[in-house]
Amino acid sequence: MKKLPRIKTGVYEVYSQHGNLPVVRDKDGLDDGDYGGVNLNRGVVKIHPETDARQEWQTYWHEAIHTALFDSGQANYLTKKVEEGICDALGSYLTGMMQAGMITVHRKKQSEPSNK
Ligand SMILES: [Zn+2]
Repeated sequence: MKKLPRIKTGVYEVYSQHGNLPVVRDKDGLDDGDYGGVNLNRGVVKIHPETDARQEWQTYWHEAIHTALFDSGQANYLTKKVEEGICDALGSYLTGMMQAGMITVHRKKQSEPSNK
């Protein structure tokens, strides 16, 4: 099983058709027990700083799926509970694919311009 890289603030982004969302390691604004969150209006993904590598990647993918559901308009047709279930399932699955070496995520180079 492949060792997962750690997520660092500003090095990873979540793709959005409205402009990529930077990932920050921060717990401000997160509810107790939350590993992360996405604020689509402010354009930022937060990941709790006290997580292990597997949990932070599950959170990264979970928030990426929220973004995809929002961007596509599909979130409007889902209850919050169903949307969370979809994000949990795909977040776990995509993290497993990373561990199996089937998905590789590249770090953003510091000199790459943002699309915002
Ligand atoms: Zn969620």
